[in-house]
Amino acid sequence: MILKLRIAENDLENTFQKFRGEFSDSRNEADIKLLEKAWQFTKLAHTGQKRLSGEPYVSHPLNVAIILTSWKLDTPSIIAGLLHDTVEDGGATEKDIADKFGEQVAKLVDGVTKVSNVRLRGSREVEFVENLRKMFLAMAKDLRVVLIKLADRLHNMQTLSALPPDKQVKIARETLEVFAPLAERLGMGGVKSQLDDLAFPYVFPKEYKLTKEQAASHYKKAEEHIEKMKRSLLTDLAKEGVKSKIVGRKKHLYSLWKKLERPDIRWNFERVHDIVALRIIVEKIPQCYTALGVVHSLYKPVPTLGISDFIAQPKPNGYCSIHTKVFAPKGRIVEVQIRTYKMHEQAEYGVAAHWAYSQAKSSGVKNSILENVGTRVGQDTLLWVKQLAQWQKEISDSKEFLRAVKFDALSSRNFVFSPKGDVFDLPQNATPVDYAYAVHTSLGGYIKAAKVDGKVVPLNYKLKSGQVVEILKSKNPHPPRRDWLEFVVTNISRREIEKYLRKL
Ligand code: MN
Repeated sequence: MILKLRIAENDLENTFQKFRGEFSDSRNEADIKLLEKAWQFTKLAHTGQKRLSGEPYVSHPLNVAIILTSWKLDTPSIIAGLLHDTVEDGGATEKDIADKFGEQVAKLVDGVTKVSNVRLRGSREVEFVENLRKMFLAMAKDLRVVLIKLADRLHNMQTLSALPPDKQVKIARETLEVFAPLAERLGMGGVKSQLDDLAFPYVFPKEYKLTKEQAASHYKKAEEHIEKMKRSLLTDLAKEGVKSKIVGRKKHLYSLWKKLERPDIRWNFERVHDIVALRIIVEKIPQCYTALGVVHSLYKPVPTLGISDFIAQPKPNGYCSIHTKVFAPKGRIVEVQIRTYKMHEQAEYGVAAHWAYSQAKSSGVKNSILENVGTRVGQDTLLWVKQLAQWQKEISDSKEFLRAVKFDALSSRNFVFSPKGDVFDLPQNATPVDYAYAVHTSLGGYIKAAKVDGKVVPLNYKLKSGQVVEILKSKNPHPPRRDWLEFVVTNISRREIEKYLRKL
């Protein structure tokens, strides 16, 4: 990919020409003409405008189009990516775009313009619900609108350092809370990881630094280890006549942090078996099972951790692979993931692979990886989006809609809300005490009682995503108790409680 985050004035044409070359590989003459026309149009619309970082504004839509091309989206989406800010910021009208680029592109640009930013933190709930509704409505009409929005967000995150600090945190938080889970739900694992890791240092600077520092040596050790296993595996797979590619997959930093925070891990790196996982990619599904046999004859599976066969039973977002944890040399436990190229493509691009497939079909480009992609997974994902749109029509009460949306789209996360609507991202099994320390370390010293969704709960209550948590404050300091240490799960609450007890 030729993505260049920052493009100076004198480099613009050059970058566009390189991009045009890449775009042309799989498109016909008419498409290429349209792209050139869109480039002239967007340059004109954004004449004189600059990004906060100082470079010409048009470098942004150009990068969005480049990202969409790397996701192998269809031509109308890429054209719409180049034009996506011309109505909102460039003074163009929907009619201009329809006349010059056709109804389809105009509808996409209009969709992107209308999907105003979805805000969670600090925004009033009503406003948030309205924005979510608009977003899901746009998604159900044409999912490509959301993919353009995701590309837009990805580039904005890549250039976030140019913004003032308060905006950085706001945008990064929204990315973590809305856009990354959305990418995950659409099966776009690669995009989800990128968004997570771009947002992580802005939202949790201390935790980011700590994770990065602590993880460095563990990443390195695990990689060396994986390299040795890779060689033995390649030899034995070849003996069985299985052509394969083996890579080490590094767990991305944000998900590593989430895992380290889990009560069963508690920052013990020995317990993270997939910090670098071994990924075996083969051509056909039966070879996945042959490969599994080869893996298990070299390295014994860990009985208690087991095998997950997401090929026989895919995850709800369409994810397919076999995962097994094995005893590697020197008593280490390593996760091995086995999948076909097709599954790999799907896990990276998710629902976008649907257009990659139709693109390949219509342009006659032969690509074995893309064959049959987008049938089962694409339809399941679209079904989910349609279901959301259906709900939002049926549910007139916005609170209930919010609950339904949160329940599904954000169910893998533990997001709880303050009574004012601020969102806190807590680990699984977090309690009201963890919540209190997350709000403010001093609040932990004033806990009289806690309410969840308006009802008083015990302090060791396990919070669930979407719940509203309220801490009833005492007038005078109300010291933390020793037995809280038995149920709190975040490091910060543990540390603060211990600090207090030591002082006694
Ligand atoms: Mn934009």
